[in-house]
Amino acid sequence: MTTTCTADGFFGDYGGQYVPEPVVPILNTLAEAFEQYRNDPEFLEEFHYYLNHFSGRETPLYFCKNLTEKLGGAKIYLKREDLNHLGAHKVNNTIGQILLAKRMGKKKIIAETGAGQHGVATAATAALMGMECTIYMGAVDVERQKLNVFRMEMLGAKVVAAQSGQQTLKEAVDEALGAWLQDPENVFYLLGSAVGPHPYPLIVREFQSVVGREAKKQIMEAEGRLPDYCVACVGGGSNAIGLFADFICDESVKLVGVEPAGRGLDYGDHAATLCLGEPGVMHGFNSYMLKDEQGEPAEVYSISAGLDYPSVGPEHSQLKDQNRAEYVHASDKEAVDAFFMLSQMEGIIPALESSHALAHAMRIAPEQDKDKIIVVNLSGRGDKDVAQIEEMVSEGKIELPKIRG
Ligand SMILES: *Cc1c(COP(=O)(O)O)cnc(C)c1O
Repeated sequence: MTTTCTADGFFGDYGGQYVPEPVVPILNTLAEAFEQYRNDPEFLEEFHYYLNHFSGRETPLYFCKNLTEKLGGAKIYLKREDLNHLGAHKVNNTIGQILLAKRMGKKKIIAETGAGQHGVATAATAALMGMECTIYMGAVDVERQKLNVFRMEMLGAKVVAAQSGQQTLKEAVDEALGAWLQDPENVFYLLGSAVGPHPYPLIVREFQSVVGREAKKQIMEAEGRLPDYCVACVGGGSNAIGLFADFICDESVKLVGVEPAGRGLDYGDHAATLCLGEPGVMHGFNSYMLKDEQGEPAEVYSISAGLDYPSVGPEHSQLKDQNRAEYVHASDKEAVDAFFMLSQMEGIIPALESSHALAHAMRIAPEQDKDKIIVVNLSGRGDKDVAQIEEMVSEGKIELPKIRG
């Protein structure tokens, strides 16, 4: 497997370890363990065993015949990460990191979560592997995500509500970091996206890269050639880098990341970090970042809780500067339109996050010749979003369309 990351964890100018001094040796121990096991045949065999038997890989590459005919242009294929156990790509990473934690002799898994999806995947994988698990969540998020909190508790995890400051993701990160520093011998910090200080962006990319490797093999079987586009939504950037990784060297394949434009492009209304941000350091790494007037992390918003993060994985920042990948945005409304379109044309309810990627694919497909191929990473399923959409419909904020006659 290839990577463009240097030994000290830089993707060009981005990435690195901007952390308090005591954290550096802990990160470096993790980086060494990862280097030791990433190509270890026994480790990989176990990793793929759980990917296959616990999560149900490989996931299909599905041709959207109805949607393609309706749009009248390029062929649209979906990489069905929504069919993973727990409903999204996140489990690819939690399996890999907990196996690594076990190899390192750790006893406890900790993680932070905002919307709860990463917390649930972590709790489930920790249950599978018999690891003690504590999930940190801002107190406000605990209140907003009651059902996910209960799900984590059902899976045997302890959920700690961070009470300081704004009581959201940032405070949860602070408390989780504190717990890690207190007991680095026994505790493994499981990060959920391709962000954070080195080696996390590298680790997450590696464990998610199974997505692109499978997709490449599958499109070669289906079409006998590489796709013209690979499209994925970008929150922290893990499902996108997972799809892109195996195609970066294939110059003919256009890589497109889709960020949330939310309610619009004014401050506080979106989380289109690569489209509208500038380089800056937060959460221990340098990357494109959305800032407020003081240069602190901006307030961000998206209809999908999994995409509202004011920074982004450092490798995406490098791919943007190199013009190897293009980053665009899709609004809440475009995502919701795509959500209904896929539901009614293909019988697949997509996650609102993934609907941003779909929205862009639906935008470009009609302009393309019929022999062009677009692969969209359907990062997750929309079951978790049904209540939110139902509420918007019943409050009259959106209309439930009838797309087929
Ligand atoms: C968490 C999540 C995302 C966003 O995270 P990335 O690291 O950017 O992939 C996207 N889609 C789904 C379904 C998610 O659960």
